[in-house]
Amino acid sequence: MRWENLTAGPAGDPARDAALFGADAVTTRTFDTPEFRGITFHEIRARSIVNRVPGASRMPFEWTVNPYRGCTHACVYCFARKTHSYLDLDTGLGFDSQIVVKINAPDLLRRQLASRRWHGEHVAMGTNVDCYQRAEGRYQLMPGIIAALRDHANPFSILTKGTLILRDLDLLEQAAEVTDVGISVSVGFTDHELWRTVEPGTPAPERRLDVVRTLSEHGIGCGVLMAPVIPFLSDQPAQLRATVRAIAAAGATSVTPLVLHLRPGAREWFMAWLEHHHPYLVRRYERLYAEGAYAPKWYQRRITRQVHELAQEYGIGPTRAGMPRRIPEPEPETPPTPEPTQLTLL
Ligand code: SF4
Repeated sequence: MRWENLTAGPAGDPARDAALFGADAVTTRTFDTPEFRGITFHEIRARSIVNRVPGASRMPFEWTVNPYRGCTHACVYCFARKTHSYLDLDTGLGFDSQIVVKINAPDLLRRQLASRRWHGEHVAMGTNVDCYQRAEGRYQLMPGIIAALRDHANPFSILTKGTLILRDLDLLEQAAEVTDVGISVSVGFTDHELWRTVEPGTPAPERRLDVVRTLSEHGIGCGVLMAPVIPFLSDQPAQLRATVRAIAAAGATSVTPLVLHLRPGAREWFMAWLEHHHPYLVRRYERLYAEGAYAPKWYQRRITRQVHELAQEYGIGPTRAGMPRRIPEPEPETPPTPEPTQLTLL
C-alpha cells in the first residue's frame, strides 16, 4: 500500500483538492493488490452526506446518500461519468480509476439522522454511483450506514450491481424488521460477450441474479432494474426474453426496463467504445440519438411493452412503490460542486 497526504491528488494542490472534493482533507492512496491495481483512492472527510435531490418532485425519493464518487465497475455507458468533471477529474478512465471515498460517511449519517431537523424521510442509495463497488470491500462503509438507518428505523432503498451487498444481509434483515427496505439489482441483459466489454468491472449477470435469489430466500423482496437495454446489441426479442426469463427465475418481485441514454460525459465514452467494438453500428446510433441523450419515444415504448408482456408471461409482478422507475431529466450544468447535481441510476 502507498499513501500520500495531499500531494498525489489529481491536481496536487491541497487547498484546491479539498475545496473540489467538498472536504476538509484529502489523502490519496493506492493498493498493490491485483483487485485495486491502477486505482487511486481519494479518502476525504466529507462535510455533508445526505443530499437533497434537485427537482425531487419528479422522483420517488428526495434524499440520497453516496459514500463514493467514481465507480470501478467501469460501465462504458455510465450516466454518472459527467459528475467526475465537477471534481476536475477525467470522465473516461478517470471515472473508473479515481475513486473518492467519504470515509466518515457512517458517522456523518448517524449525526444527521439524530438531528431534530431530520424527519425520517426515505433515503435512496446507489442512485449516483454503486455503493457496493469493489472499494466497499476494503472501506466497509455500508455496514455503518445501514446500521445507522436501522437504529433510527429510517426507510431506505439501495440500487446496485454489486454482489457485495450479500455481506450485509444480516443488517438488511434487521433493518427490514423495523422499517421499509427496498433493494433493486441492475441487470440489463444476460449476454456474456456484451457484459465483458461494456460492464468490465461488474459481477457477471448471473451472479447479480444470485443476489436477487438470496435476498428473496431471506424474505427481502428484490426488484430488477433492467438497465440499460442497449439498442441493436441487447434488444432483440430473443435477448429480451432470455433476460426476463432469468430475472423471473431468480425470484425478482418486479422488472423495470430502461433504454440506454447517452448524456454528455457518457456519450463520448460510449461512442468511442462502439467505434472500437461495433463500428458498423455508429451511424445507426447517430441517427437513433440524433435528438439528444434519449432514444426516441417510440423505441422506448416498444421496449417497455415487450418487457412488460414478457414479465406478465413469466409471472413477475409490477414495480413496487418507492423504487426507481425512470431516469430523471438531466439537471442544468453547474460549476464544480462538492456533490453531483444530477441523479443517475445504475
Ligand atoms: S452504471 Fe452503476 S455500476 Fe456501472 S459504473 Fe456507473 S455507477 Fe458503477
